[in-house]
Amino acid sequence: MRAAAASWSWPGNPDALTVQTKYIFVTGGVSSSLGKGIFCASLGRLLKAHGLRVTIQKLDPYINVDPGTMNPYEHGEVYVTDDGAETDLDLGHYERFLDETTTQANNVTTGRVYREVINKERAGDYLGKTVQVVPHIIDEIKRWILRLAEAAEYDVVLCEIGGTVGDIESQPYLEAIRQLRYELGATNTLSAHLTLVPYLAAAGELKTKPTQHSVKILLSYGLQPDILVCRSDRPLDEDLRRKIALFCNVAPQAVIEAVDARTIYEVPLKLAEQGVEKLALQKLDRWHGIATREPDLSGWMRFLRRLNSPRDTVTLALVGKYVAHQDAYKSISESFILAGAELGVKVAVRYILSDTILEVGVAEALREVGGIVVAPGFGRRGIDGKIAVARHARECDIPYFGICLGLQCAIIEFARNVCGWEDAHSTEFMPETPHPVIDFMEEQRHQVAKGGTMRLGGYACHLVEGSLAHRIYGKVNVRERHRHRYEVSNVHRSALAAHGLRFSGLNLARDLVEIAELPDKRWFLGTQFHPEYRSRVGAPHPLFTSFVQAALAYSTGT
Ligand code: GLN
Repeated sequence: MRAAAASWSWPGNPDALTVQTKYIFVTGGVSSSLGKGIFCASLGRLLKAHGLRVTIQKLDPYINVDPGTMNPYEHGEVYVTDDGAETDLDLGHYERFLDETTTQANNVTTGRVYREVINKERAGDYLGKTVQVVPHIIDEIKRWILRLAEAAEYDVVLCEIGGTVGDIESQPYLEAIRQLRYELGATNTLSAHLTLVPYLAAAGELKTKPTQHSVKILLSYGLQPDILVCRSDRPLDEDLRRKIALFCNVAPQAVIEAVDARTIYEVPLKLAEQGVEKLALQKLDRWHGIATREPDLSGWMRFLRRLNSPRDTVTLALVGKYVAHQDAYKSISESFILAGAELGVKVAVRYILSDTILEVGVAEALREVGGIVVAPGFGRRGIDGKIAVARHARECDIPYFGICLGLQCAIIEFARNVCGWEDAHSTEFMPETPHPVIDFMEEQRHQVAKGGTMRLGGYACHLVEGSLAHRIYGKVNVRERHRHRYEVSNVHRSALAAHGLRFSGLNLARDLVEIAELPDKRWFLGTQFHPEYRSRVGAPHPLFTSFVQAALAYSTGT
């Protein structure tokens, strides 16, 4: 251990450690998709509701340096932090639930760990040594985990280990947390393990054996869980809890049931009912006073009440090429849920595949929707469908919200059908177009490597006074997150504006278009940035709220 050596290296005496930050390590067993991310986000929210400073880190065992080069079918949405990291979508849940901004340090992958170690080896940092998984890779993982404690900004760091215990690729992470538990001491760390308790219809009962086996695997890595979170489709009775407790070596009250919830936003309450965060606080042995009080969930309850009692329903169309994957547009669909709750409106999203919409017929596919969203994306597939959708929205004056590629498609459509440049296109799809209304950003022109090389993260955006965007935000200077290589061409900007397109948001430092809108329409706006990354529970992004409002007004004819 080098970077964090001052306060964290193992001096042989645990009392000598000046531990400010405590760690909760969260692992999963039996099956993937048990909802570790939602569990972490929920527990984090509960700890914050007790007044603690909390963050959550995700450790992903894959070899990619980040998920930025992965297909959404492979991985789901790529979430982008303000400081420009392309990360796992769980970070979106963390930000939305916790209302805390994450950074590069909140998502670590095996690829990133190995890259650091190999760079150090090439720099000669390990001269004379054989570089090995133990200790070098393990130490590097520990360094990333401890980095979040260095500035003592947090009371608790929740650390979620991706994958399932028993996977070959998770082993270094389990060893790293075993060592950290040993070095930091039992009361400074906690191990929570999520497992599945399946119901076997033929036997007519819930089965604990998979959980027992999962804990055995964890024990074989030297990790005894303190808390077991059991996912099941029905409640666990007392006998079952006692059985799991006895065979897995945990206290019966530390066997937490996690029955499938109506929405992910109910999970914090379900956990609070069982006192899971109080149990964690007691085990961490510092905040006993806090642990006797109730968490302040008033804001969360207000949000849930609104979410659960909508007065209206509006249907939106989301047009994209990854709609078959439920997680591909996670932050967008969650943003609609959060905006709907704010307005007391249930937002039903109709997912439409952009590749086939022309065969179905655009008008038919978009029948009776209150608003249309054209999703972000990369590559040629489905582009013609998206451009046709933008045209239909403009011509029929249906509220339109284009996000990143959705903005670019609206501009291409406008250039073709309003300016009359039939061959207008983005150079991403037609490099030889005579009207490249969307073109490479200058710094992207010579970029060959694909990983982490886009324009990423938060940049300032200046809003034009009196525009729709300005009215929605209620201020002129905002900051939004980006993930793109192409931009609205400055060569064609004035001609597009002369035909009625309004560039209402600009990056002044670089003279880049950030927002375009059509002022003579009800609600027609596209953003080069991704507003969906900044929605939070109780504080949805204002563009989403305004769009849902416009869609409701349009569909109810008000
Ligand atoms: N493919 C487009 C670009 O790189 C849009 C990216 C996106 O929608 N995130 O600029």
